[in-house]
Amino acid sequence: MQDLVGLSRSRKLCCECGEWSADAVLVQVIESGSGPGGLLYACRAPCAVICAGRHCAPDWLRAQYLDDSGGQAGEATP
Ligand SMILES: [Zn+2]
Repeated sequence: MQDLVGLSRSRKLCCECGEWSADAVLVQVIESGSGPGGLLYACRAPCAVICAGRHCAPDWLRAQYLDDSGGQAGEATP
């Protein structure tokens, strides 16, 4: 019983694989005009890295995951 409460509070639904992950990180903030929008989470790995490689990924997410890995996106290299 108390396990269910703990899980539902700490787990986030991964927007990439659709699984509930206890190790999810914020990957996108959906702005909705006024007030808070939606928050999208993904598994820290590999889903968050996949999200960061998408063209629609926010800059802060790219910086967090792609800079460290040496630009594995393979596009827009100077
Ligand atoms: Zn995932």
